[in-house]
Amino acid sequence: MKVPFADLNAQYRSIKPEIDSAIASVIAESAFIGGHFVKDFEDQFAKACGVKHVIGCGNGTDTLYVIMKMLGIGSGDEVITPANSWISSSESITQAGANPVFVDADADYFSLDESLVESKITNRTKAVIAVHLHGQMCEMDKLKAICEKHGLFLIEDCAQAHFSEYGGIIAGLFGAAGSFSFYPGKNLGAYGDAGCIITNDDKLAERCRMYARHGALIKHQHIIEGVNSRLDGLQAAILSAKLPHLGSWTAKRIECAAHYNERLVGIGCIVLPAVRSKTKHTFHLYVIRAERRDDLAKFLQGQGIETSVHYPTPLPFLPAYSYMGHKRSDFPVAAKLQEEILSLPIYPEMQGEMIDYVAENIKNFYRN
Ligand SMILES: *Cc1c(COP(=O)(O)O)cnc(C)c1O
Repeated sequence: MKVPFADLNAQYRSIKPEIDSAIASVIAESAFIGGHFVKDFEDQFAKACGVKHVIGCGNGTDTLYVIMKMLGIGSGDEVITPANSWISSSESITQAGANPVFVDADADYFSLDESLVESKITNRTKAVIAVHLHGQMCEMDKLKAICEKHGLFLIEDCAQAHFSEYGGIIAGLFGAAGSFSFYPGKNLGAYGDAGCIITNDDKLAERCRMYARHGALIKHQHIIEGVNSRLDGLQAAILSAKLPHLGSWTAKRIECAAHYNERLVGIGCIVLPAVRSKTKHTFHLYVIRAERRDDLAKFLQGQGIETSVHYPTPLPFLPAYSYMGHKRSDFPVAAKLQEEILSLPIYPEMQGEMIDYVAENIKNFYRN
């Protein structure tokens, strides 16, 4: 049996007529940039999230950058972000002109350990980025309280957390704004780069929209210098075709995770992903902690099973941040996780037998 890490083609086959007709409509109308497909998707996603404003952007890294820029974060400012994340959640801080300040990982939930956040706050700190890694929400009550107490902006990186919930509230609605990526492999994925900002703040929404469209809300009336970061018509139409399925795809991911849990429980050499209480974890990734991780991955690969590591190097230890001079002992949990984490295949179209096969092989590996 072959178990790919993801299968975007299986998803396409399941909704081919809807996607094909969406693409054909955009081409027929030459509505490549701007136009009603973008507006339609923004309205539909706003309704789905229960938020006032959605601003389509070029990708989910720009969205973080645009949010920070428009919150007035810049030179000399510090922004707190997880050590264990994708580089967008620190790169965008530098891009805005500010300095990333990393916080060590939480051993059970992988994103930042909220109990360490306050120790990183200085008089230059302006914001905290809560990255809902793997589809698991951060401890939002605590992060919100810390941000309120210290007068910091709370920004949510929801790139891996479409429709995740904390206390019944959807990701992206806890702070100043939420940033989403629609990279093809994300839970809601376009057929190219795409992203969006969600916010209930009218002023911030208008500023972000202006900034991402060359500083102009009306053509040729550039109020400020901005950037070009637009959601294009083709991506918007594809996302509109997919959005009605996101609820059932998410339910499928949660089912796959439950199936894995059932089959993998009791293997002493691995730790299954914990789900934070009061939350809905949408399992963009199913990440276990495994003894002899690299050998296990190699063994599974030999059995036709693709796995991955998210992420092989914590951000502070990347060459890009060597100028900060961080040591492993600065981020002991992230450093340890780096050697143990393994992402198993998970996607809505995955068959039960595939999960059984992966689990059986993990058991076989540790039996020998
Ligand atoms: C995917 C991702 C992003 C943004 O991705 P883009 O490729 O720029 O759309 C940001 N943060 C995290 C945690 C991500 O996984």
